[in-house]
Amino acid sequence: MRTARYTDQVLEQVERRDPDQSEFLQAVHEIFACLEPVVERHPEYAANAVLERLVEPDRLVKFRVPWVDDDGMVQVNRGYRVQFNAAIGPYKGGLRFHPTVTESVVKFLGFEQVIKNALTGLPMGGGKGGSDFDPRGRSDAEVMRFCQSFMTELQRHIGQFTDVPAGDINVGAREIGYLFGQYKRIRNEYSGVLTGKNLEFGGSLVRPEATGYGLCYYTAKALRVLRNETFENKTVVVSGSGNVAFYAIEKAHMLGATVITVSDSSGYIVDPHGIDLDVVRDIKMTRRARMSEYADAVPDSTYHEGSAGIWTVPCDIALPCATQNEIDGDAARSLIEHGCRVVCEGANMPSTPEAIAVFQASDILYGPGQAANAGGVAVSGLEMSQNSMRLPWSFEDTDQRLRDIMQGIVAHSLDAAKDYGREGDLMFGANVAGFVKVADAMVAQGVC
Ligand code: GLU
Repeated sequence: MRTARYTDQVLEQVERRDPDQSEFLQAVHEIFACLEPVVERHPEYAANAVLERLVEPDRLVKFRVPWVDDDGMVQVNRGYRVQFNAAIGPYKGGLRFHPTVTESVVKFLGFEQVIKNALTGLPMGGGKGGSDFDPRGRSDAEVMRFCQSFMTELQRHIGQFTDVPAGDINVGAREIGYLFGQYKRIRNEYSGVLTGKNLEFGGSLVRPEATGYGLCYYTAKALRVLRNETFENKTVVVSGSGNVAFYAIEKAHMLGATVITVSDSSGYIVDPHGIDLDVVRDIKMTRRARMSEYADAVPDSTYHEGSAGIWTVPCDIALPCATQNEIDGDAARSLIEHGCRVVCEGANMPSTPEAIAVFQASDILYGPGQAANAGGVAVSGLEMSQNSMRLPWSFEDTDQRLRDIMQGIVAHSLDAAKDYGREGDLMFGANVAGFVKVADAMVAQGVC
């Protein structure tokens, strides 16, 4: 029989095994901090070593990605795919191409994906992957050659019933297209092996918008239930300017709020009249240029060097949509000092442990990424359904399903929180609800 602090024992084991994987350890700590009352109530979890098995991925593939640049030079990057947990469905999760991608980063993302995917209510396990390849400044032809080389190795590990990758940072429709083309060529198989595909070859309507729209549906539901409020007339700070940020801004505007910021890794824009998405689209998506150009194009808007200052901009709601650990303890305190009362996360793990502690000790409505940003993978799950049926759904139908899923995540999180005497705690509830679903499946399937 194990003792009461089962979570601590397993945490110690993870720290001993992977002492240098700081992002992964952070994610495990964050989720395990909520699980002790759950494992106490469910002795079968310890008896079946559920936590020990949960923190150890089914497998992690690490591979060389050689490719030829436009000057004819051979470049070598490192590729990863972590297949974390398939208790409730095939591995599912995105690919990230960014110089910061390491084994620790893909493991933290894969671990959170297990909980996130369970929360959607769809049959998807958790996985993640990517490369330290930096697409910035690379030509289309270079990105294509990189993607082809990446898929030449990845294809042997994935499949529509095995592991279904998608996009994440710097992996959008262009990259998914190149990856899909290479999979099809090597395997001579036309299947829904990737999600986030273009509409013409099996993609789903609403997938591009899904994470950003879903974040707003989640936030709107939480606001209504916990505060009896709406987005109407709220001032919103959004960080980032990628796919998640773009559609979060669009939906927040549709819901009656004014989003006054947008950012990239160099700095941020403040536009008191509300961010003009046509300008953002032109800079980011068409020209792949820097956000600072926004201030040249839009009167009254200002550009500020450095990314941390964005959390000093007065607002009612903050939606961090850039990257991990973008809000530290000081930023969290600054948000509160400047009037912010709601933080819902579009990025994965954007708040440091200290920032989360600051939110939890205040009256901030805090929606953690593994719940609030589940809309992307949720519509990926819907894309898989449409691929299996060989039938596309309408925008309205898919959008309604997304809304139902996000509202369901808020409801299930609040139910789980209440069940453990933690009324209104969206973070506790999300971690518990997602975990219990996976843990029960693992127990039912025996030691594997
Ligand atoms: N990368 C997204 C996430 O973090 C989406 C993954 C997917 O669609 O499979 O959830």
